[in-house]
Amino acid sequence: MAGGAFATLSELRAELAARRVGAVELAQACLDRIAAQAHLNAFVSTCPERALARAEAADRRIAKEGQTALVGLPFAHKDIFCVQGLPTTCASNMLADFVAPYDATVAARMDAAGAVLVGKTNMDEFAMGSSSETGHLGSVRNPWDTGRVAGGSSGGSAAAVAAGLVPAATGTDTGGSIRQPAAFCGVSGLKPTYGRVSRYGMIAFASSLDQGGPMARTAEDLRLLLACMEGRDPRDSTSADVPPTAAEATPRPLRIGIPGEYWDALGTDMGTALDAARRGIEGLGHNLAAVSLPHTRAAVAAYYVISSAEASTNLSRYDGVRYGHRASAPKDLEDLYRRSRSEGFGDEVKRRILTGAYTLSVGYYDAYYQKAQRVRRLIRQDFLDAFASVDAILAPVTPTPAFELDAMQADPTDMYRQDAFTVPASLAGLPALSVPCGQIGGLPVGMQLIGPHFAEDRLLALGEAWQRETDWHMPHPRDSRAGPEAT
Ligand code: GLN
Repeated sequence: MAGGAFATLSELRAELAARRVGAVELAQACLDRIAAQAHLNAFVSTCPERALARAEAADRRIAKEGQTALVGLPFAHKDIFCVQGLPTTCASNMLADFVAPYDATVAARMDAAGAVLVGKTNMDEFAMGSSSETGHLGSVRNPWDTGRVAGGSSGGSAAAVAAGLVPAATGTDTGGSIRQPAAFCGVSGLKPTYGRVSRYGMIAFASSLDQGGPMARTAEDLRLLLACMEGRDPRDSTSADVPPTAAEATPRPLRIGIPGEYWDALGTDMGTALDAARRGIEGLGHNLAAVSLPHTRAAVAAYYVISSAEASTNLSRYDGVRYGHRASAPKDLEDLYRRSRSEGFGDEVKRRILTGAYTLSVGYYDAYYQKAQRVRRLIRQDFLDAFASVDAILAPVTPTPAFELDAMQADPTDMYRQDAFTVPASLAGLPALSVPCGQIGGLPVGMQLIGPHFAEDRLLALGEAWQRETDWHMPHPRDSRAGPEAT
């Protein structure tokens, strides 16, 4: 790519500003690389005409006003964000033919900032999963090893950034879907505080947890993207009216909490990689302190009860009448509902709807849903207590590096357990950053920095300082080729 396929947004900004490269050239280079690496299955769709038209407009804008904000920078949206006039499928048969009639707030803001959308990325169906294997167009492949998953549910966005198809992408994180794929693919990802980024036009999975955020090569780029995505939106009543994330925070010596419940759960390889990261953070001048988050082990159970309950109600709108795939030649209304939903949804989505409906039903509501809500409050309180004595928490993102395709298919709870380190911050609504911090057997490993509510600037400053001193965000996978099994 002009400017280098693996250039950061900041580098590309400088190239655009100096007129060494143009936005059209950048957009075209992304489209070419997406086509050349199609076997990664990172994209659900591309929008070349729209991209080139917007890029031309960006070039004119740069010629007149110089480069500002995201003007002329190519990027991709996870296919969960509505973009007016473009297919928005959520990787589901249910929405295979849906063309969004309006823009998500995030999409409108990225447009207003001048960023050039080149396409929509693949994911787990309705963002339910940790491997990007459940989409209706098949599995996303990890560019570091195409026999492995890219993580999920924002696996297409992570793979696309890692493989140099785009320098940045949006993702959404309900229980880890930005952080975990970022870690599996060796890129940086930020789950903002719940309420920091508008959910309007972002297809709902679990509304009390869903949060959109940026994925890119560096924490510095995440800051740039967040500045354009964030902010109060009257169309999302849960979006927060808080000051914007600071443009740059000066990192001072911070107190960094090390939660025993996370570290004790690590295997040898991951433990060694994370220990090195912990020493590295200390080497940056920060002070480490042990903290305890005692309800951590109940987080996965609570998360799956709450998120499935919310999913079962959110997804009730796809009935083949108001929204979604409509079965042909129905016998009667009942048959129409039944077959539209049976044909439209995949197995994992059906599993969540069934579990969610069960936990909300009379007689089980108290035992499951209410209990999970109580656990959620305890988990949130654990973090608030910890943040009384530390400024941020350092934790692993995943128990292992990227696993092999199909490895977690036999028992769905194997997949759910992969989320043990990411769902607690989600339940507590906290911001959390995932940045590369090592490798195991040639596969990237990430570390997670969790902060108090709305402390994104602190997390990003830590990530930026980390990336100035280390180069774990620099290596990138060699271009892979379609293997015999890859289509
Ligand atoms: N893996 C988790 C789940 O399957 C999280 C998904 C997400 O954050 N969207 O629900």
